[in-house]
Amino acid sequence: MSGNTDADVAVVGLGAMGSMTAWQLAASGASVLGFEQYGIAHDRGAAGGESRLFRMAYHEGPEYVPLLRRARELWLELTRDSGRPLFTPTGCLSIGLPGLAPMENVRRSVAEHGLEHEVLGADELAARYPQHRLVDGEIGIVDAAGGMLRPELSVLSAVEQARARGARLHERTPVRAIEPRDDGATVVTDEGRYRVRRVVVAAGPWASRLVPDLAITVKPIVLTWFVPDTVQDYLPDRFPAFIRDTDGVHLFGCPVLDGVSVKCGFADVWDPLDGPESLTRDLPEPALRPLTEAVRRFLPGLHPDPIRHGVYMDGYTADRTALVGALPDAPSVVVLAGFSGHGFKLAPVFGRVAADLALDGGTPMDVARMDPTRFAPAP
Ligand SMILES: Cc1cc2nc3c(=O)[nH]c(=O)nc-3n(C[C@H](O)[C@H](O)[C@H](O)COP(=O)(O)OP(=O)(O)OC[C@H]3O[C@@H](n4cnc5c(N)ncnc54)[C@H](O)[C@@H]3O)c2cc1C
Repeated sequence: MSGNTDADVAVVGLGAMGSMTAWQLAASGASVLGFEQYGIAHDRGAAGGESRLFRMAYHEGPEYVPLLRRARELWLELTRDSGRPLFTPTGCLSIGLPGLAPMENVRRSVAEHGLEHEVLGADELAARYPQHRLVDGEIGIVDAAGGMLRPELSVLSAVEQARARGARLHERTPVRAIEPRDDGATVVTDEGRYRVRRVVVAAGPWASRLVPDLAITVKPIVLTWFVPDTVQDYLPDRFPAFIRDTDGVHLFGCPVLDGVSVKCGFADVWDPLDGPESLTRDLPEPALRPLTEAVRRFLPGLHPDPIRHGVYMDGYTADRTALVGALPDAPSVVVLAGFSGHGFKLAPVFGRVAADLALDGGTPMDVARMDPTRFAPAP
């Protein structure tokens, strides 16, 4: 406890970003309160679905590479300290048509930042990774620093690390309101009111419920699992995490982790929701057909009917760049939101950034382009 407050910093939402923020704050010696509306590592928001891609050669642009480098160091640290297989360095294979923006960004990332990589022409790509059926002109770029993350285990591990350093984290405790004060903020729950110096709002798809002016729309992302003909060809040592941008199709996936199936997903094709409460978690079979067709076309060694699917969601901004920073009219409130379907790999570094902003008012990482007030509010 600090002076007449209950903690230095409260973290609202303990999913991907909030769990990492609590870990980083506690590691800095701050007194931390945290609140999660569900249980720790639940699968109702943006951090469910067993696996996430880690990519350093970045489809979204080379300006992310410094953040990704620091994130990777923190993933290795959390993997080591938790004793759990959070990060598996399989490398990450980008497949696509050269000239398309995502592949050009991959090329720029490796060139401008000297990243270890291999460019595979069509013949070499087909010979090394026959699991992928190619279309004319496609190339592959293997990002040696890439790999896979385990989201639920990661959230759980970050929470454990924070608690081990004294953080008081409340599960099943929804925050009803945040009331900024001149000298801090009050966090309101059904159990009590907590006075803190700073609040980090890491509420994912629910962020606009607490900070209504945030320009975020909520979109579902569907994951599907397919059984291969020969499982050994799809294990992590033979089949790295992949992402593919070809011919209007944006497909990504991870190797077999559960002993039987390969995870595949599409991004940016699902219609926005009215809000997080509208998420439908079980889809009718026809809704899965575009994915089934893409798998039939591009991954012929997989049985094309999924054995299961899961529906999750994330908060999106108009430019797919997150909202990170203190609010000008409530400087005690730091926002981490709008990770637009690609934030998980960056969660530890954004946790560090939020801890810096909450404790010091600034951060050495370059997040200027993520100004949370750069858009008009979402309608
Ligand atoms: C299916 C899917 C696949 C993805 N694949 C990748 C990938 O391969 N690589 C990658 O880097 N990124 C990926 N992403 C994106 C990434 O997972 C998200 O960007 C990231 O999880 C966002 O983290 P968050 O903390 O903002 O949200 P969340 O992880 O959802 O956390 C928000 C938390 O806040 C809690 N909360 C909300 N409101 C309140 C309240 N009032 N009181 C208390 N608690 C509250 C929620 O319950 C939740 O636990 C994917 C996303 C999805 C959905």
